[in-house]
Parts: sequence; C-alpha cells; structure tokens
Amino acid sequence: MLTAGQILQLIRNGSCRTRKELIEHTGLSRSTITERVDRLIAAGYIHESGVGASGGGRPPSVLDVHAASRLILVADLGATHARVALTDLTARPMAEEHADMRIELGPEAVLSWVREAFQRMLDRAGRPARDVCGIGLDVPGSVDHASGHVIRSFLMPGWDDHPVREAIGESYDVPILVENDANAMALGEWWSSWRGTAALVLVKVSTGIGAGIVLDGRIHRGVEDAAGNIGHVRLSETDDRVCTCGSRGCVASLASGQALAADLGAGSSREVVKLVQAGDPDAIARVQEAGHTLGVVLATAVSLLNPGVLVLSGDMARTGEHYLTGIRESVYRRSLPYTTRNLPIVTGTLGERAGIVGMAVLVMEHVLSAAAVDAALAAAEAG
Ligand SMILES: [Zn+2]
Repeated sequence: MLTAGQILQLIRNGSCRTRKELIEHTGLSRSTITERVDRLIAAGYIHESGVGASGGGRPPSVLDVHAASRLILVADLGATHARVALTDLTARPMAEEHADMRIELGPEAVLSWVREAFQRMLDRAGRPARDVCGIGLDVPGSVDHASGHVIRSFLMPGWDDHPVREAIGESYDVPILVENDANAMALGEWWSSWRGTAALVLVKVSTGIGAGIVLDGRIHRGVEDAAGNIGHVRLSETDDRVCTCGSRGCVASLASGQALAADLGAGSSREVVKLVQAGDPDAIARVQEAGHTLGVVLATAVSLLNPGVLVLSGDMARTGEHYLTGIRESVYRRSLPYTTRNLPIVTGTLGERAGIVGMAVLVMEHVLSAAAVDAALAAAEAG
C-alpha cells in the first residue's frame, strides 16, 4: 500500500496529474487516494491547480506541488565569495545576494553574515521564518555528511570540525544539509542542463581544485565523503612548490587558480581571470598549460566513470576557452576514443550560481522525499 509520501512522488515526477490517474496507476481505491491526497493538500505539499483535460462532465482538477507554500534557504561559500538564495518549494529562486568574503575569516564571521542575509531575504519577501522547510550550505572542503561538520579543508583554517548545522539551526528548526561545494555545483549543473545523462563529472577550478560526481541523479560521495577530492593527486615527484596540503607536486599546486596567481604575480584566482580576459599572452599560455595538467587527472576519471558530460566550473571556466582547451587536449589524447567519442567537455551553464542551484535542489529532494514527507505527516498528526 503506497504511503502519502509515495503518492507525492508520482505527482512530482509527472506520472499522475489527477486523482483519477492516481487510482488507475496505483490500483488503490478512490477512498484511499482521496485520503492520501487530502493529507498532502492539508499539509501544504500539493494544491489543486487549474483543470485537466476531461472526457465530459466536471473537469478534474490537476494536482501539483504547492511551490509557494514553503521556502528553502541556501548558501554557497567559496574561498573568497559567499552567495545566498531564497527559493520556493520547487527550488525556483525568489531572491539572491552575494558578497566578496574570505572564508578564512572563520565560521563565526561568515555564518553570522549568512544568518543575516537569510533574514534580509525573508524580510524583503514578507515571509516568516516558519515558512522555511529546509536549509542548505556548501563549503569548499570535505564535509561529514551525517553530522554536517567540516572535516577537512586546506582553504578553511578554523573550520575543522565546526558544527555548521548547529550554528544555523539556532534560528531554524528544519533539516539543514551541509555539502562540499563541487558536489553541489555538479548537482546544480546536472539538474539545469544534463538530466538526461546518468553520469556527470564536474571539476571546479577556483582557488583550489575539486570535483563532483552525479550518478543517476544523486551525488556520489564515497565512503569517507571524499569522492572527487582530486586536487591533491600527486603528479610530479620533482616540482618543489609546496601545496596547501603541505605536500609537493599536487595537481592543485600546479593547476589551481592559486598556483596560477602565484606564477603570474596576480593576487588571486579572479585576478588571473582578469589577465586572461585582457589578453595577457603569458597568462593565456599558463592557463592553457594548467588545463592540460589537470586534464591528465581527468582522463583517469573519464576512463573510470565513463560520464556523459565533463563540466568545468569555478573561476577558470571564465577564462573563455583557454583552460577548457587544455583539459580537452589531455582528456582526448589520453583516453580510449570510444569513451570520449560522445563526451562533451564544456563550461557550466549556471556560472557562479551552480552551487546555490544545486543546494536548493538537494534540499528540495530531501524535504519532498517519501520518507521525509511521511515522517513529517506522522509528526504533525501526532502532535
Ligand atoms: Zn596538495
């Protein structure tokens, strides 16, 4: 017997649009379907919108997710920027804010800005905090998915083991998801442009390097939440530049925005982008070479996962084709032709918004999952 939460999935994925279709699709009785649908409507998950096609008589009302009934708050925290968004229950953006911010300021300063920005967006939308049903934050480091603690980031001094979830949860009694930024961006790009593909790999190259993997529509995190942590694969035994991880010869110490900035005498990854955009020949050559170097590692990822698309995101995606060209040359040359024959290697379509889009989708999928909906209905009906 399908639960109300499972009925909701049939409505969400478009399998059933009316009560009649639910009865036909599930084989459940009219009274059971009516009871499930009425509970979902009463709890604000769905509403009746417009009218469907009818074979005569009273036209049936169409059931749809009630997008406006609840809100999602998300934050994307990079090494040098922060971006927040308010979305409806279907992850459609209603408001966004961004700021230049160095994550090394530490969790208190950064998270208090996030809390204030969340409140500003709610105030401007004229909505109370109790309308928020879920929150998501991504950070440029590894996160323990179960506890929401930052477990390791060379870009985030002072954040190790910080209870991000508790820090935000003081103000909101809702599920709070904490995620690695490249994972969030990968899900955002998959959702926006690549839902037809079963495997997507995204590589983010900004200050550091990280990758996110989406398999069958879900983030693949690995057993230690460390999947995609490709920045510290050691490529050179002889390079003497010290990486942020303390080792030498990592791909991050050769090909990250921070490494490029150091080589070119620029202040940051973003300044490297400006040099390339201004046509500086040294910067262009160095960026292309860096893409080439990272491509060596990505060729292995492509051979291992056989993705349907490889997406470049982060600051280096804004260098025009230069970083991308380097990646393409290495990946195509170092992989079996039939694994790359139909592999697009492209920049993301969401740009700097990939993280917040991915986080909003992640939160939406969590709060609208069958298990979460059934648990929430049971709790509301018990209390
Ligand atoms: Zn390293």
